[in-house]
Formats: sequence, structure tokens, C-alpha cells
Amino acid sequence: MNKKKKNGAYKSQSFSSSKENPNQKVILDWIEGPVIVGAGPSGLATAACLKEKGIPSVILERSNCIASLWQLKTYDRLHLHLPKQFCELPLMGFPQDFPTYPTKQQFVQYLEDYADRFGIRPRFNETVDRAEFHSETGMWSLTTSNSSSIMSTEYKCRWLIVATGENAEAVVPEIEGIGEFEGPIRHTSLYKSGEEFRGKRVLVVGCGNSGMEVCLDLCNHDASPSLCVRDSVHILPREMLGKSTFGLSMWLLKWFPLRLVDRFLLMVSWLMLGDTSRFGLVRPRLGPLELKNLSGKTPVLDVGTLAKIKGGDIKVRPSIKRLKRHTVEFVDGRIENFDAIILATGYKSNVPYWLKENDMFSKEDGFPLKPFPNGWKGRNGLYAVGFTKKGLLGASFDAKRIAEDIERFYKHEANHSANNANFSLSLFPQSNS
Ligand SMILES: Cc1cc2nc3c(=O)[nH]c(=O)nc-3n(C[C@H](O)[C@H](O)[C@H](O)COP(=O)(O)OP(=O)(O)OC[C@H]3O[C@@H](n4cnc5c(N)ncnc54)[C@H](O)[C@@H]3O)c2cc1C
Repeated sequence: MNKKKKNGAYKSQSFSSSKENPNQKVILDWIEGPVIVGAGPSGLATAACLKEKGIPSVILERSNCIASLWQLKTYDRLHLHLPKQFCELPLMGFPQDFPTYPTKQQFVQYLEDYADRFGIRPRFNETVDRAEFHSETGMWSLTTSNSSSIMSTEYKCRWLIVATGENAEAVVPEIEGIGEFEGPIRHTSLYKSGEEFRGKRVLVVGCGNSGMEVCLDLCNHDASPSLCVRDSVHILPREMLGKSTFGLSMWLLKWFPLRLVDRFLLMVSWLMLGDTSRFGLVRPRLGPLELKNLSGKTPVLDVGTLAKIKGGDIKVRPSIKRLKRHTVEFVDGRIENFDAIILATGYKSNVPYWLKENDMFSKEDGFPLKPFPNGWKGRNGLYAVGFTKKGLLGASFDAKRIAEDIERFYKHEANHSANNANFSLSLFPQSNS
């Protein structure tokens, strides 16, 4: 086998046939450094931290661009929910002239600049279908497919970094009669703007940050939205006392216990927003920060939706009982006509579908079994970045720790192998050539 170094990889010149499908050709790629799956903010942050330490990596991305969630699956009016200082990736801040809450276009530009600055060039249109560790070789093996080619690639690497995100696949709930409803039913990942719903009656299912913001967007485009609220929810003003609620909470937590900070947040919210249960938005029993810590459920930071609910422009409805051709029956017995339904029902991890391992990730929800801050490292060179339920801050934390950890092994192996004058052979066993 003839190996040439390219972008941190030794590309094999040999081809073989896939075991499952003998007509499919498989290219073999031996990767010198880690392979990162996913070119979202988490994958980019990890590649940059590794690069800074002189460690090459290869990113495999199923879509055709970086940050595909932000570029392809979010609505036009989206801004960062948190102030920019809490959303920076390691080693490069946001431009000074960006607003406190950058638009999605600005955030994507920042990520493009970030990738350029660190020379990160992911391999696009490569979906990782399977990854498993081979104890005989001490290597991970990943198989990728590309919908536009009969070729698939098998990557071999010493370190595997999972950066496929908490939001890899849309969650579509089972609703009785969902096949009967004649209007469009769309997940928020496919919703761009309220423009196409002008003058229409739209039911938005789910009252997280996305559901609330989509309702506001629909109002601003003269649609008539109703918000289907199935659970209790904490709504907090995005700013309090002239500071961002998130920033203020972080600061207070340095001095006071969590429950006291929760009480403070709820008191100020009550003074600013009133009793939200009067409008059908009942608060959970636990405070917003305690609930976030225990379940990962994020409080809604209100950007104007509540005023529209109070004013009657957005109606609040309970859970759906069933759908019919043009109507929705709610659990309180009310039946109403709707033209369209938007599902703001969230996302899930896809790790259990492709990663074959038993220790690190839960088979149920595809998150690391160990909670933050201990979920970033598994066995045999396996890592996870961006599964902390703590947004971009959590991803940056993981990325730095992963790079530091791999640096120790990488440099140790490099020294050891250089001493033996056998570096490439030890990293790239010939067994499959
Ligand atoms: C609407 C919205 C707003 C948010 N706002 C904020 C905010 O303001 N502040 C904040 O801190 N957090 C925010 N978050 C949460 C989080 O920070 C973002 O979701 C962020 O994009 C997570 O980055 P990530 O790289 O971990 O995952 P993603 O951005 O989802 O990137 C994962 C990448 O992996 C790829 N991938 C998945 N499976 C495979 C596979 N099998 N093979 C190859 N590639 C694969 C995907 O195509 C994707 O490009 C927001 C989330 C959403 C949904």
C-alpha cells in the first residue's frame, strides 16, 4: 500500500470491496491525529485547540458546510440566546463591533472566520455510519458514506472525538391523527420565516425558546399563532437590572447558593412579568437553575413573546388530544381549526445509531453517562465534546480538556516512536493494506 500524507491523513491508494455490499468500493484512510465527527461549533473548537498544540486532526461532516445546524436548520430571525461573551469559542473572541446578541448570520460568519484562522477544512458530505474500536490494533475504525457516490471510506485512527451535537436529529412526537391533518406540519428545523404563513392560523407545539420565538415571528408576519403548552415552563426576562439574566445568574452563583439565586430570579421575574400561570404558563416546582442542573431543561428567555400572549395575539392551548383533517382537538375538549402546525419539539443525539461502544454513551438518549464536568472522556481514545447541556460554554470547556489530554499521549507516542525510528509504522499498522 502506498501512503501519502495529506491534511493530517495518510491516504491509502488501495481499494477494497465493502463486506455488506461487494459492489461498493471502500477507500482506506489512516489518520495520524484524532478524527472529529461533526463540524459544528464543538468540532471546530476542538480542532482549533488541537491545532494550537501542533496536533493535526480530520473533521468528518455529513452536510456540505460548517455549522450546518445554524446555516441550514434555523429560522431567519434567530439571534444567539445568550450574550456573546458566553458563546465564544476558545482562542478567538467575537469582533468588538458585534452586538451583545449576534444574529445567526453574524455567528456563522464568526465560525467561518474561526475555521479560516485555524486552517480547519472539514471533509464535507461524509456521514459517519459506524464507528468501533478494534482492541487487536488499538485503533478506531469509522465507515462513512456519501449519498452521491458508490465509494465509501474507512478511516482508521487512534483517537475518536464525537462532536455530533445534542441537536443532531429532529424529535417528531407521536400525535393521534397526524397523518390525517391536511395542512403542512413542519419541525422548527425546517421553519425559516412567518412570511409563508401570513394570514394563516398556526399551532406551534412546544414552548421552549424556539417555540416562543417562532410564535413571535408569526405574529410579526400577521399570522394567528396559538402555542400548545404541554409542560410547566420557566419564563425569565432576557435582561434584569440592566444586565443579561444569564450573566447576572453566573455572577450571583459565585457568591450565593443556587436555591437562593433561583429565588431571586423568580422574584424579579414576577415583578417584571407578573404571574405567568394566569396566561397558562405554569412554573415548575423546582427553580430555573436547579431544574437546568438536574434535567438540562433550559428556561425560556423572553424576547417579547409574553407581551403578545398577554395582549391576546398569541393564544395558549393545552396538549393535543388528536388531529383531524383541518382541526385540532385539545385535551380540555376544545376543537379549533388550523391551517398549519409547527413542531417546536426539540432535538435528540444520534450517537447510539452509529457509535458501537458500551461504556461512555447512554443507549437511551445518546448523551455521555457521566454528567458534566466528567462526560468528555471515555476509554480507548474516545472523547465527547458539546454534550454538557451547557451550550457553547460547555463545548469550549470540553474542547480545551480534550486537546490537553490528547497532547500528552500524542507527544509521548511521537517521542517514543521517534526513538525507535519507527514512528509511522507504529501509528499505521499494515494489517489492512
Ligand atoms: C435554535 C438554537 C439556538 C441556540 N442558541 C444558543 C446560544 O445562544 N448560546 C449557546 O451557548 N448555545 C445555544 N444553542 C445550543 C448549542 O450551543 C448549539 O446547538 C450549538 O450549535 C452546538 O454545537 P455542536 O457543534 O455541539 O452541535 P451542532 O451545531 O449540532 O453540530 C454537530 C454537527 O455534526 C454533524 N453530524 C451529526 N451526525 C453526523 C454523522 N453521523 N456524521 C457526520 N456528521 C454528523 C451535523 O451535521 C452538525 O453539523 C442553541 C441551539 C439551538 C438549536
